[in-house]
Amino acid sequence: MKGGDKMTTKHLTDPVTVLAGVGPKKEQALKELKIVTIDDLLHYFPFRYEDLKVKALNEINDQEKVTLKGVVIAPPIVSRFGRGRNRLNVRLLIDHAAIIVTFFNQPWLKDKFETGTEVAIYGKWDAKRKSLTGMKVLAVKNEASPQFASIYSASKRIRQTTLVKLIRAAYQAYATQITDVLPATLQQKYRLMSERAMIHGMHFPKTQTEAKAARRTAIFEEFFLFQMALQLLKKREQAPEQGVKVHYDNQQLRQFIQTLPFELTHAQKRVVNEICRDLKSPYHMNRLLQGDVGSGKTIVAAIVMYAAITAGYQVALMAPTEILAQQHYKNLQRVFADFDVKIGLLTGAVKGKTRKQLLADLAAGQIDMLIGTHALIQTGVDFANLGLAITDEQHRFGVNQRRILREKGYQPDILAMTATPIPRTLAITAFGEMDVSTIDELPAGRIPIKTSWIRSNQVPNALAFIQKELAQGRQAYIVTPLIEESESMDLKNAQAIFEKMQAAFTPTYQVGLLHGQMKNEEKEQTMQDFKANQFQVLVTTTVIEVGVDVPNAAAMLIFDADRFGLSQLHQLRGRIGRGHAASFCILVADPKNQNGIERMKTMVATTDGFQVAQKDLELRGPGDVLGEKQSGMPEFKVADPVADYRALEVAQIEAQQLVVSGAWQRPENHGLAVYLKQHAQNYQNLD
Ligand code: ADP
Ligand code: MG
Repeated sequence: MKGGDKMTTKHLTDPVTVLAGVGPKKEQALKELKIVTIDDLLHYFPFRYEDLKVKALNEINDQEKVTLKGVVIAPPIVSRFGRGRNRLNVRLLIDHAAIIVTFFNQPWLKDKFETGTEVAIYGKWDAKRKSLTGMKVLAVKNEASPQFASIYSASKRIRQTTLVKLIRAAYQAYATQITDVLPATLQQKYRLMSERAMIHGMHFPKTQTEAKAARRTAIFEEFFLFQMALQLLKKREQAPEQGVKVHYDNQQLRQFIQTLPFELTHAQKRVVNEICRDLKSPYHMNRLLQGDVGSGKTIVAAIVMYAAITAGYQVALMAPTEILAQQHYKNLQRVFADFDVKIGLLTGAVKGKTRKQLLADLAAGQIDMLIGTHALIQTGVDFANLGLAITDEQHRFGVNQRRILREKGYQPDILAMTATPIPRTLAITAFGEMDVSTIDELPAGRIPIKTSWIRSNQVPNALAFIQKELAQGRQAYIVTPLIEESESMDLKNAQAIFEKMQAAFTPTYQVGLLHGQMKNEEKEQTMQDFKANQFQVLVTTTVIEVGVDVPNAAAMLIFDADRFGLSQLHQLRGRIGRGHAASFCILVADPKNQNGIERMKTMVATTDGFQVAQKDLELRGPGDVLGEKQSGMPEFKVADPVADYRALEVAQIEAQQLVVSGAWQRPENHGLAVYLKQHAQNYQNLD
């Protein structure tokens, strides 16, 4: 009886092949839907429900999909037409009206319709012909007809009906094996269903209410488990033995801050303190520094880098583009001119002997601060003693990049800076394992940028306006449309606009051109020349987007502004308003739809990056806002981080408490611990 014993120990981790009818082919088809085990199958939830409630003839519209119930008047008739095609007609009596139901190519249904019995049929109503094209027989011979049908995303290789059958079979055989994952305390506190009731309610709801309650539980559970994984990751990375303790020299740091040509804003002081506290602690810092464009993140970076250097560590600053890396390099060289800090620049453009020497110096600990692009974390770049790594704009060290650093033998503190403010809900999902510092204040004396939106036929007026600005000694950016399809189109466009601008402004003013296909040296030279006011108008593609600083540029005109994401427009706009003059941003757009109109209005209405980001999130969704690759946004199956953000916030708080207190490991939460262990691999690639 050994074999028999084995058969009776069912477990949710059993492969789907234990179900009748699942051979190698179906197994493969299911695998493509990421369904391998019974548990996967039970958690393969419908994405919507079809309302199967029976309707009366007078409440349905033409072509509507409905369920009708009636009595079979006469035996069905099957007739053939065309080659191998047939149709089955059956007459039903509904409220004294006789209607015809037609099924195509399902002659075997004939046996279901017994004269004089009641049947329920789902199909598409044709009002003119008073007939129903039958799609599904829901109930025969006076059976109770279901109120809902669960609709799953199926594939070519596995059909809806097969999925339904398998899920039903799995539930019948394994329902008793389903145990709770959510701690009982949370179930009670938030009136959530047990795991089994939730799975039942998701797949086979009897009422709309049951379906809703099940979904509510499923959403919470999905967020909660994700947050548990993040919080555990965070805790692991903060383990005391892992981090470096940076004993910086407070005295030196103060002296340095005093040399700055301005007083730090309150917000800058606060975040410097937050970061320095992390540096001093034995914990591993993993912090996100967010602040609107122009809020002064660079100087914060400089201060904390200097702190680490006074403690004897090397630091790295990684920027997303060559231009930005060079700008930081020059800027920091100036900031540290009177201090004993050796700064190096490493980008793709640094080659040959220079590069070799630089890498040798770095490995020997003779470079204190290395600034560069992604080249920084490539193989062959070896630090002697890296204590702090900072990324500027957009880039952040993901789990994988941190792993690269770790494999190089470091465990540096990490600070990611971003000027794309992240709405709270996204910060929780995408950066849940990080601590967040926010600079929510601009340096004093900034005059808010005035933004206006015009139609393309008003461009001549706008150019006249810009001309006036130029006459006052200011400079202007002209941003060319974003053409995603091809870079060469981009260039052509930029060149056409460049010529137009030359026609408009020369010879009184000079016009320059900057685009993505220029060599780095050319780009750099162009930026230098613009900064030196050798030309007054810069026609540019979006290469200009990040971080570039020319305080005298006070006007910007953006063509086809509705093609850009709001956060991107905000970034672009942040290139002006950096000096003491009032600045003007003119958006040129002829939006074709309401969404476009609303986006332009948002830009005009606010200069607050957080509000822009929130609106962007609402209008475009999280993937687009963060950018697919760098988002680290997990795919949620039922939950939606935007629509369900309250659940997300609660889930984060609860997960954090359970992890910090260690309560998740208590016996009463056994189910949770087991689940997390079993699914650990799902959470390894959070980035
Ligand atoms: P971002 O946060 O966009 O990177 P930056 O660091 O480039 O902003 O700072 C924008 C400008 O503001 C720079 O010219 C910088 O020198 C200046 N700045 C930074 N902090 C202050 C401050 N507290 N007071 C006045 N100017 C400041
Ligand atoms: Mg910056």
